[in-house]
Amino acid sequence: AKDLGKGQYHIFDPSMHHNVSEKLQIENDLRRAINNDEFLVYYQPIIHLTTGKIAGFEALVRWQHPQKQLIHPVLFIPIAEETGLINAIGNLVLEKACKQFRSWQKSKLINDSMFISVNVSARQFANMDLSQQIQQLLEVTQLDPHCLKLEITESAIMDNPKTAVAILEGFKKQNVRLSIDDFGTGYSSLSYLHNFQVDTLKIDKSFVQRMDNNGSSCGLVPVIVNIAKTMKMGVIAEGVETSEQLSLLRGLECEFAQGYLFSQPVPESLLMELIAADKIW
Ligand code: C2E
Ligand code: CA
Ligand code: CA
Ligand code: CA
Repeated sequence: AKDLGKGQYHIFDPSMHHNVSEKLQIENDLRRAINNDEFLVYYQPIIHLTTGKIAGFEALVRWQHPQKQLIHPVLFIPIAEETGLINAIGNLVLEKACKQFRSWQKSKLINDSMFISVNVSARQFANMDLSQQIQQLLEVTQLDPHCLKLEITESAIMDNPKTAVAILEGFKKQNVRLSIDDFGTGYSSLSYLHNFQVDTLKIDKSFVQRMDNNGSSCGLVPVIVNIAKTMKMGVIAEGVETSEQLSLLRGLECEFAQGYLFSQPVPESLLMELIAADKIW
């Protein structure tokens, strides 16, 4: 591990195994962060490829630690998940994202067809209170449930596919929309897919980034796009970084794309500038 100086725990290498006391320190730090409201929500635009315009946003959490630089989620979400603190953090993100999104709608900064996508971790997904919490949030904010998309990873769903079917049906009844995140990385059985009431497949960036190294072939991306179309689902390619990837995706008639080519995840103020610029990609 690197020498990071006093008080800096070694969370900078996500592959590193933390020892018990490091974990405890991060856990305590996370508890304080929850109470002190240290989490920020960044937003990354999602582009509709036919029109070239922004169609919605993914909310991505950041931790503004008082003594450290902005901390990225790969460095704390796994520990939050392990300790169960993800439920509290996830609720904070949901609430912030829905409230901010609603305020943009009210001030007519965004148009009515735009959506906000929020990540739901495996543990949150399995938590029976989530649906109730979302219902309350929708009522308090008066947000149209159709504008809210929940991103649930393929592996969270496949942990327990039978339970997942019931949970997904519950969300569907609330009229919120659902995406399977990191699709292609979690061994879904295709025969199960039609049981899941989901609206969108998100192609993991590892597949998108392999596309242009592949010469004429685009690897699994066309396969996933076709699965989505066959199942009458929408499809989003994440991690689009090059104009070559963009034109390949357009050629495949992939519906939406997201990635650094368009914008990194940005704080609210920068997102508003991006929307005001009304760029067409
Ligand atoms: P994810 O849901 O698969 O989100 C996509 C990640 O890819 C984000 O990383 C995003 O910033 C990054 N990304 C976007 N475009 C590009 C690109 O063109 N190239 C590359 N190399 N990366 C790109 P981020 O924000 O660091 O989040 C990492 C993961 O942390 C997310 O992966 C998600 O699993 C988790 N996460 C983030 N926010 C939340 C949250 O509020 N709740 C939960 N449960 N998990 C979250
Ligand atoms: Ca996601
Ligand atoms: Ca992920
Ligand atoms: Ca991903």
